[in-house]
Amino acid sequence: MDKIQMKTPLVEMDGDEMTRVIWQEIKEILLLPFINLKTEYYDLGLAHRNDTDDQVTVDAAEATKKYGVAVKCATITPNAARMDEYRLKKMWKSPNGTIRALLDGTVFRTPIVVKGIEPYVKSWKKPISIARHAYGDVYKASEVRVPAGAKAEILVTDRDGSQTRTPIHDFQGDGVVQGMHNLDGSIASFAHACFRYALEQKKDLWFSTKDTISKTYDHRFKDIFAEIYERNYRADFEKAGITYFYTLIDDAVARVIRSEGGFIWACKNYDGDVMSDMLATGFGSLAMMTSVLVSPDGVYEYEAAHGTVQRHYYKHLAGEETSTNSIATIFAWSGALRKRGELDGLPELCAFADRLEKASIDTIESGVMTKDLYLISSLSDKKAVNTTEFLREIAKRL
Ligand code: NAP
Ligand code: MG
Repeated sequence: MDKIQMKTPLVEMDGDEMTRVIWQEIKEILLLPFINLKTEYYDLGLAHRNDTDDQVTVDAAEATKKYGVAVKCATITPNAARMDEYRLKKMWKSPNGTIRALLDGTVFRTPIVVKGIEPYVKSWKKPISIARHAYGDVYKASEVRVPAGAKAEILVTDRDGSQTRTPIHDFQGDGVVQGMHNLDGSIASFAHACFRYALEQKKDLWFSTKDTISKTYDHRFKDIFAEIYERNYRADFEKAGITYFYTLIDDAVARVIRSEGGFIWACKNYDGDVMSDMLATGFGSLAMMTSVLVSPDGVYEYEAAHGTVQRHYYKHLAGEETSTNSIATIFAWSGALRKRGELDGLPELCAFADRLEKASIDTIESGVMTKDLYLISSLSDKKAVNTTEFLREIAKRL
């Protein structure tokens, strides 16, 4: 059999722990037998990030800008325990945060829906993607405790030194105050990424905030989305037969629960944080959640939403058998390969991505799955397999 040829390399970002083990096996068992895989490899494993003073993460992000498509393995975000474990020079920042900042990207998370893993919400038939604005608001806020008798105001000093004061509250009792911000530019980037992604996925886009209460702050989000939609995207949406609509977050939550799914829900930073966990749980499993970072100028980085599955890795190191679910990481590869195929005009590469996803889903739907799914699957005839067996079962069907 002739292997599928590629034109432009994918940016490949290797990672840590159990997902690093799986990464290698996916390539060996599912990709290399079929594709003449062309990648530009960056080792984002923590040891190498430490050796390069995290330069490798920046280089990988720059390469992603250059080539347009990347696939990333889960990586450790260091904490105090990791400082000792890896003898780190510094507590390096989250690679995802670094990459997101350099690409000015928005993250879209979408569950993979399979027979046997039923959503908790009975009406959900199709996946719901969530887009979280990843800048500002309460995540970049200043907060203080305020004593009784104090008066709090917002003071804005313009470039020319002129000042405006806006009262917050006259405190009769002790209390708290918080100041937060966002930027028109960041909101606009978020809007462009959402509209673009909706067009590409041919799915409706919903956007929700609390603009009835937050008449200036949240209203600014609503207005920027509306302006950009009218100016840049309305015609294309109509042509594609999809809709954009804005609604109050309370209404959005009610509609989401009653819906069949199959749309993209754009959320402000905090709402997206909370609602993405709600959706991941609602659809059944974090191990089945895919993630793609899309920049406003159309650069894509695919990954799994879950972490490095540390607990399984320590079992693996101790020589014990593991049953780690590789589906979300496989879909990161298929997503990246399909996108590369689309950009380079390689229909056989796109077709391979489709077949890889189908073989993965068929495997689970035929009752062969990893332990995490085995525990929640409603199929009557099912068996749990180990990490490598699962990949071999997919390969058989592929
Ligand atoms: P995690 O790796 O997502 O795993 C948490 C638990 O969820 C696992 O212990 C496992 O439960 C279950 N799980 C997650 N993915 C699974 C899979 N593919 N197959 C089977 N079970 C799965 O989160 P964590 O343990 O909190 O974090 C570990 C490391 O990942 C941390 O260093 C963190 O910084 C990093 N992280 C990276 C990313 C990223 O790169 N995008 C995202 C999140 C976290 P059981 O143990 O019960 O089997
Ligand atoms: Mg969260």
